[in-house]
Amino acid sequence: MPTLGLFGGSFDPLHLGHLLVAQAALEELSLDRLVFLPAAQSPFKPGTTPAPASARLRMLRQSLAGQTRMAVDDMEIRRGGVSFTAESCREFSRRHPGWRLFWLIGADHVPTLPLWRDAEQLAQMVEFIVIPRPGEPSATLPAPYRLHPLRGWPLKVSSSEIRDRIKSGLPIHHLVPPSVAEQIEREDLYLSIAPR
Ligand code: ATP
Repeated sequence: MPTLGLFGGSFDPLHLGHLLVAQAALEELSLDRLVFLPAAQSPFKPGTTPAPASARLRMLRQSLAGQTRMAVDDMEIRRGGVSFTAESCREFSRRHPGWRLFWLIGADHVPTLPLWRDAEQLAQMVEFIVIPRPGEPSATLPAPYRLHPLRGWPLKVSSSEIRDRIKSGLPIHHLVPPSVAEQIEREDLYLSIAPR
């Protein structure tokens, strides 16, 4: 049965922590394919305005260029509004009947899973790959949730920390792919104080 990993997030900006766990998930779960799904608006970040979707998509597309098993899908951006995971998973189930679907989730988000929209249906559609976050305890959740803890490679970096560094004039090279650093500089991203 073919296997597909789905990696949702704001990717505002994409950083090396994202890419490292994506690679770890491909290898540890032997996924055939992993798709990054940038959110139009994250349900976890109401009242915040991310960088324009077109800019976030460009970061992902450039960083994944040439990858054969990783891709980006703009489904949530085209749908607009709040990007609910269950809606996206229903679409992937329709597109890929018979595929085994996985959703990557940060260990910090696991305890809230039962509160997500259509959580029970979501638990039937996908198995969860749990991303370790440094300092976070390993997560557990009873059936119907199916969790697969990931080992590699937790890196203590976040998009918000990168945005803060840019506003403070601190370097971000080595925290993001070179093409992302170049794009942020070229497009003057994250310099103004966006509402949180
Ligand atoms: P922010 O700091 O703005 O909240 P973020 O860095 O947590 O952003 P998101 O794009 O919101 O990034 O996260 C998408 C997914 O990537 C989430 O499941 C999150 O748990 C995971 N993730 C974020 N940072 C890391 C990291 N350093 N290592 C592993 N996974 C990460």
